[in-house]
Amino acid sequence: MRAMSQHAESQHPGPSHHDGATTSGPSAGLRLMHVHAHPDDESSKGAATTARYVAEGAEVHVVTCTGGERGSILNPRMDRPDVLENMSEVRRQEMERARDILGIHQEWLGFVDSGWPDGDPKPPLPEGCFGLVPLEEAVEALVRIVRRVRPHVMTTYDERGGYPHPDHVRCHEVSVAAFEAAADPTRFPDAGEAWQVAKLYYHHSFNRERMQSLHDATLAHGLESPWADRLKEWVPEPEWDARVTTKVPCGEYFGVRDQALLAHATQIDPDGHWFAIPREVQQKTWPTEDYELVTSHVDAPVPEDDLFAGVRAGAPRASVG
Ligand SMILES: [Zn+2]
Repeated sequence: MRAMSQHAESQHPGPSHHDGATTSGPSAGLRLMHVHAHPDDESSKGAATTARYVAEGAEVHVVTCTGGERGSILNPRMDRPDVLENMSEVRRQEMERARDILGIHQEWLGFVDSGWPDGDPKPPLPEGCFGLVPLEEAVEALVRIVRRVRPHVMTTYDERGGYPHPDHVRCHEVSVAAFEAAADPTRFPDAGEAWQVAKLYYHHSFNRERMQSLHDATLAHGLESPWADRLKEWVPEPEWDARVTTKVPCGEYFGVRDQALLAHATQIDPDGHWFAIPREVQQKTWPTEDYELVTSHVDAPVPEDDLFAGVRAGAPRASVG
């Protein structure tokens, strides 16, 4: 089932494409781990936050649960037979480019994309895919990585998966379970020394309030909004939006985010909704990426504007094990 060994970390000498990237800086010595379902998710969710922390000297690790083998081609320019035939290799190369642009360390959890179940009723998931792998097997693989990397902070999707792809829901389940299990020396004792990650977050960048603000600002600039139809159907969910605890200012890194997105050429249409709103409008209207602090083992009162709040030097640290 595994596409590759869970031990095989991508060989990456470190950030090289960022003038701002450095091993010193206000976030030096801090480690952040994002767990994502597919290659491209690290660039569409939290990528500007990533770029900011990398520029400030933090180590940012991305664990990608699947190879994205069953992703459709969403960019008409890339919808070619030679690309379709080599989807896993193409997506691996795209991920390498995005990795270098973001200045991250990236590795694969080693499972196979479940694909988007199209139809009503939905067809069963394909045999052997990530959505069907026993939870404990995936959790152990992630615990092994968490105990080796020793991140201070982890992010994943909310319980709805952020969007209802079976791999995103599974990514949530695996991440939450691994966050707990990594700290418990009685769980997976052969998977390394226990490590307590100090904080766990869910991404909340796609809330309605943000989309409405961007939509309004786009219209105010006399431009066409890509979100008109979506907003009409999207019933306001004030309780859901109120779950946001943490807004990380990262507007000046939206350009890096966009470059990383474009590196996933099969998945991102340069003429599509991602780039329909001018960057300056986004930076002015909503210059943060937003998160929900779900669990904290450090003193970190919310609201806050920093994923490492309570973890930085001088703050009480979470103990190991
Ligand atoms: Zn995805």
